[in-house]
Amino acid sequence: MPGFTPGRRWQPAYSPFKRDRFVDRLLELLEYSVKGPLFGCRMCGNCLLQETAFICPMECPKGLRNGPCGGSTPEHCYVDDTRPCIWYKIYERSFRMGREDNLLEVLPPLDWEKVGTDTWRDVLRQVAKIGVKKAAGGLLSRSAETRTATWDGIFRPVRQPDWWQGDRVYHPPVPAEPVSTLERRLRLGEFVVTSEITPPLSCKTDKMIRHIEATRSYVSGLNFTDNASATPRMTSWACGQIAVAHGAEPVLQISARNRSRSNFQSEVIGAAVLGIRNILCISGDSARLSPPPREKMEINDLDAVQMLWILRRMRDEGKYLDGREIKCPPKLFLGAAASPFASSPKFQALREQKKVHAGAQFFQTNLVFDIPGMETWLNELAKRNVLDKVYILIGITPIKSLKMATMLKEVPGVYVPESILQRMSAANAAGNATEEGVQIALELISKIKAYHGQGIHGIHLMPVAWDEIVPRIVSEAGLTPKDFEHTSQEQSNAHPIEK
Ligand code: SF4
Repeated sequence: MPGFTPGRRWQPAYSPFKRDRFVDRLLELLEYSVKGPLFGCRMCGNCLLQETAFICPMECPKGLRNGPCGGSTPEHCYVDDTRPCIWYKIYERSFRMGREDNLLEVLPPLDWEKVGTDTWRDVLRQVAKIGVKKAAGGLLSRSAETRTATWDGIFRPVRQPDWWQGDRVYHPPVPAEPVSTLERRLRLGEFVVTSEITPPLSCKTDKMIRHIEATRSYVSGLNFTDNASATPRMTSWACGQIAVAHGAEPVLQISARNRSRSNFQSEVIGAAVLGIRNILCISGDSARLSPPPREKMEINDLDAVQMLWILRRMRDEGKYLDGREIKCPPKLFLGAAASPFASSPKFQALREQKKVHAGAQFFQTNLVFDIPGMETWLNELAKRNVLDKVYILIGITPIKSLKMATMLKEVPGVYVPESILQRMSAANAAGNATEEGVQIALELISKIKAYHGQGIHGIHLMPVAWDEIVPRIVSEAGLTPKDFEHTSQEQSNAHPIEK
């Protein structure tokens, strides 16, 4: 694989014209010649091989450095089916080698200044700092503890530079009053409902506003997708602001795709000031799914785990990524996507745990149609001691037609059992497929409600442009919020614009 897609493709265009010293170029060549064939090294200049079971993750088309995306499968990468999901391979090998806990370490985004250069000089610098004799003695010591400490003393500063300092432990949010209705209701132990609205394709907002007004009292948060399938629509934070203006509580979906770290931080600060407090960090669909002519596919500056880490630090420590102080930090309730049916439940649970460590306070999952499968995933989360640290909302969609059911089967990270396909097929023949889809959703919700208090805290409805069905599903599922009558007024007062 590395031979066909050499790392130099990932470099900024000016790199070939950079004047490097001969000795530096020699070292780079040497490192690439050794690490390329051995580990699939892409010369990212920010080496993290020992945390990834000695497989370079930079082959991932999304540039993910902290674990697989929600579309990962054992068969192949969902973006490019000519190659395996490199993160699946990393997880497989890590578990085989008993190194899976290394995968919990939150690794930094690339320092692009270093991309294309060698890491060996950094390693040698660390050895010199410790002292060659001491380092050699430590590495050859009979005590396993000394060996590990010396090894870590050399390599940890290389993968965790001063400006990042990630670790593998849980950082609970700093105690504070709930910052949103969604957070307040979850803390009160209510079984909540959030719902998704697809942003409009044009500047016409009347249909979206109608849906916001019709739905806002039934749900605790309205998600606005962020250019799903890498296809442009109205930006999610503009939709979020419209929702605030119409008395609803938005959940801002913000994807890593096509976003630089500066852009990301400034957008969240702006959104918080406009009254948007629930932020859902996602890696986003690959730009390879974008409509033609294909946009640039290599804008991979951050991943979802890094986004959560950055926002948690901005909120709790009042610091930008570059260390500048934020005098009035944003008030945020941080969420992430979870994917019970991607890769394997064991792998996904580890990935979810990492997101919780990084800062996720709530999860909205990908679509669930299989309750036993969901329970297997929950059990894996329980083994990782995650269930008391995060609120989980299970993704539900009412299937509108047999065609939609068949299409859902092909969506990465979604599993539709044969029994549901058969029901939809029979209903389609009888001419009532739409109603059957609603009944299936209601049955699933009723089963999911049984897990309230056992790890599940609500549902997240994804009606896929069928927004008008939300009030009916919420009412018939018996999930109308307790303070339903007062909700509109309460929500319109919830987030006054900050001065
Ligand atoms: S499936 Fe996702 S995580 Fe795996 S290699 Fe492809 S883009 Fe990366």
